[in-house]
Amino acid sequence: MAPADLLSQHRLARPAALVFAALWTAGMLLLRAGEATQALSNFGLSVIALAAGLAALDRARLHGGADRRFWVFLGLAVLFWSAGQMVWTCYESVLGREVPFPSAADGGYLGLPPFAAAAMLSLPLAAPTVAGRVRTLLDGLMVAGSLLLCSWILVLGPVFRSGAEDVLTRTISLAYPIGDVVVITIVCYTWLRSRHAKRRLPVSLPLVGIGLLAFAVSDSGFTFLTTSGLYTSGSAIDLGWFLGFVLILLAALQPYDDQGAGQQPEEVTRPLGNLLPYAAVTVALLTSAAEVLRTSHADVFVSWIRTAIMLLLVVRQVLTLSENQFLTRNLEHRVQERTIELQASRQRFAALVQHSSDVVTVVDPAGTVTYQSRSVERVLGYRPEDLVGRSIYELSPDEEAPALRGALTHAAAEHLRIHTLQTSWRHGSGRLCRVEVTITNLLDNPDVQGLVLNARDVTDRVRLEEQLTEQAFTDSLTGLPNRALFKDRIQHALSRRTTGDATIAVMFMDLDGFKAVNDTLGHSAGDELLVEVAARLRAVVRPGDTVARFGGDEFAILLEEFPTGAYESELASRINDFIREPFDLGAERVHVAASVGIARMDEHARTAEQVLRNADLAMYQAKAAGSGGYVAFRPEMHAGLVERVRLESDLRRAVEREEFVVHYQPMISMRTGDITGVEALLRWQHPERGLIGPNDFVPVAESTGLIRPMGEWILRQACLQTARWQAENPSPTPLRVSVNVSPRQLHHGDLPELVSAVLQESGLAPDRLTLEMTESVLIDNREETLETLTTLHDMGVRLAIDDFGTGYSSLSYLHRFPVDVLKIDRSFVERLSNGGDTALVSTILRLGQSLHIETVAEGIERPQEMLMLRRQGCTTGQGFHFSPPVAAVDLGEMLHEQHRVDAPDERAPA
Ligand code: C2E
Ligand code: MG
Ligand code: MG
Repeated sequence: MAPADLLSQHRLARPAALVFAALWTAGMLLLRAGEATQALSNFGLSVIALAAGLAALDRARLHGGADRRFWVFLGLAVLFWSAGQMVWTCYESVLGREVPFPSAADGGYLGLPPFAAAAMLSLPLAAPTVAGRVRTLLDGLMVAGSLLLCSWILVLGPVFRSGAEDVLTRTISLAYPIGDVVVITIVCYTWLRSRHAKRRLPVSLPLVGIGLLAFAVSDSGFTFLTTSGLYTSGSAIDLGWFLGFVLILLAALQPYDDQGAGQQPEEVTRPLGNLLPYAAVTVALLTSAAEVLRTSHADVFVSWIRTAIMLLLVVRQVLTLSENQFLTRNLEHRVQERTIELQASRQRFAALVQHSSDVVTVVDPAGTVTYQSRSVERVLGYRPEDLVGRSIYELSPDEEAPALRGALTHAAAEHLRIHTLQTSWRHGSGRLCRVEVTITNLLDNPDVQGLVLNARDVTDRVRLEEQLTEQAFTDSLTGLPNRALFKDRIQHALSRRTTGDATIAVMFMDLDGFKAVNDTLGHSAGDELLVEVAARLRAVVRPGDTVARFGGDEFAILLEEFPTGAYESELASRINDFIREPFDLGAERVHVAASVGIARMDEHARTAEQVLRNADLAMYQAKAAGSGGYVAFRPEMHAGLVERVRLESDLRRAVEREEFVVHYQPMISMRTGDITGVEALLRWQHPERGLIGPNDFVPVAESTGLIRPMGEWILRQACLQTARWQAENPSPTPLRVSVNVSPRQLHHGDLPELVSAVLQESGLAPDRLTLEMTESVLIDNREETLETLTTLHDMGVRLAIDDFGTGYSSLSYLHRFPVDVLKIDRSFVERLSNGGDTALVSTILRLGQSLHIETVAEGIERPQEMLMLRRQGCTTGQGFHFSPPVAAVDLGEMLHEQHRVDAPDERAPA
């Protein structure tokens, strides 16, 4: 049968047993006496004992090992008794006879005590220690002795003395009370042992224990009554037996929790259990004393048992005493061990605290030091005892104390709150240490009761940080502030400025000639020069002014609150002079100059950025103006520069992408009106701004040097185009082309090579090419220019002076340079028609004739101008009157048309 089935059966069986018990008891109480009671008692006891025995055996199947043995023994004990009771019932209630003594019933009854004892002793209740086991045994013996004493006085003795005839009868008579004593003893003993129960028991000990006690007490009562001849079946004594078996039955039917078995029971202390042997001894002694008083003589047996009990008591006391001593010693030993352990751990902790790089300090909320770790000696140079009792604020310099006070107050506000701060503490030697302090609130911790400060010396770290910061703000070569710090200083100056008109100025300085020093003498000489320049600058400014190096050969000076008037200009001039003084770099003596730009903080510069940019612009101007000067910023510089910078970058791109086109303006023979030549004029096809005229970009191209690639390009285009036109329109006097060249191109010596290469490439005859240049080229009177021009002239290329008359008044160059053409400037031509001075044009024309130089009139816009010029002998004209500059295709058309008109007549051109 599965345990679950058994359990369900048991669940029904318990109420059934209780109902049966209740009915039986009620019957017994109602019937009171007589044969009916006797029968009810006999049958009831037989049934209940049989049920209890079977239930116990059934229960045994649920368990294994010692637990099963317990239930089997208990079942057998009860079944034996029930068998005895059945025999008794047979005699008394079935056969209606007196039960003989001894009979088979006694055999059954007497089977209970040994099996019950075996069951109780098989419970796994061994004490953990030998002493414990001995003590339990002694206690058991004391209980047994006491019970024996009581039983002897009350039951055994009278039975013994009743003097039954034969030995068997006598033995059986005595076996009953002895069996009861054994059962009671064993129950008590088990109760004592259960103090040590190591695991959950397979039974409810109170149910079985009380059941057996009830049985044994009733049994003893029965023996006593029988001996006294007072017993009849169905008396109150029977209730005790019945109760005993009901309890055992209930115990066997008690639900058994498989899971719970083997679990550790809750620790139970049973003070009553400890007192039980003494209680038993007391009862026994009192009983024996009462007996002595009653009979006024002492039984020998009683004396012996008493003596034995006393002995047991003494042994038990001795054992307890020695056990206590042992325990005390053991305890002392353990306390000692624990103390040593604690001490060791405290020492370990102290060592840790002392040797840690942290200084551990405990202060009360007022800041008074209550504990100071040894490490303070190493870190801050104080002895701990010097600090304990003193205020922690004494370590702080005055200016740092409030911050520390604030931190302590903040930390103290909440239990376990942690606050970290960096502050300074005075070292024992007097110097200041930078410390990082972590404050932990352990005010509520009973062992600490304070604020714990973990302080770490971070002086080195902070110093390194400062060094790194310094590095980020200073120029490592000269030790001067760098751009970042300089800007910061300007900002500070701005924030300090209380009145709006207090003056702040920035100077920008750039060395002229530094690159040459670097290139020729090497970088170390360059560095030396920069250091020397820095020193001179520092010497020349006032102590409050800031000198900075921005990198390379750029320096800046911040002037604050300087005297009104021309202070900046004077200072700039002094700087120019100072720098102009020669520098001795080792064996070399070098000369450099300083270009200085000055900008004030005013309505044009409200921020550091703006004033720096303005000073830079001014410096740029100073540099452009020539070495060793200074320029103060003017607002126009900014607008011009922005435009210029944009144009410059655009132009660079335009050169790369060849965004240029050539327009051609015809040059007309004043005599015939034919196109004899063309002037190539550069146009820039700007992607956003459209077609741009040369006046808007040629100056920039000149200053940046871009004019050279541009000049080469237009020269090639013009020559190739002209050669093409010549081929298309053959004529005895082929078309000429004029190309403008800038001074920069001419100053570069390779122009003749370029021209000859282009001529060769295009197949154009040299005399068909005219190079136009302005007078300024010739005013320099440079030898190289003369050489270049001579070479070109010798090649056969014609040279023209463009915009003639607008330059120098001295025309001496006309004799020195090989000039072929004079192009009279448009301003003179204009005068011919607007009532101005006309004599000048005649003079120029005459001069040309006398020097055998061709004259070309530029900018002829009106017919009368053309007529007047022709009358005065001007050979060639150019201007809107004839045609504006046009694209190559259009000019090609014009040439084609002219060729078509000219050719049939075969008119000879001029
Ligand atoms: P330029 O060499 O004196 O060229 C004549 C300028 O006068 C041209 O201006 C032309 O368009 C303009 N012009 C011609 N006839 C008249 C007229 O009847 N009335 C008026 N008001 N103007 C007239 P553009 O093309 O703007 O060229 C200006 C200057 O740019 C040129 O003066 C020349 O010095 C320079 N230039 C042009 N192309 C180049 C070039 O390829 N290289 C160099 N270095 N300079 C160039
Ligand atoms: Mg020209
Ligand atoms: Mg011109």
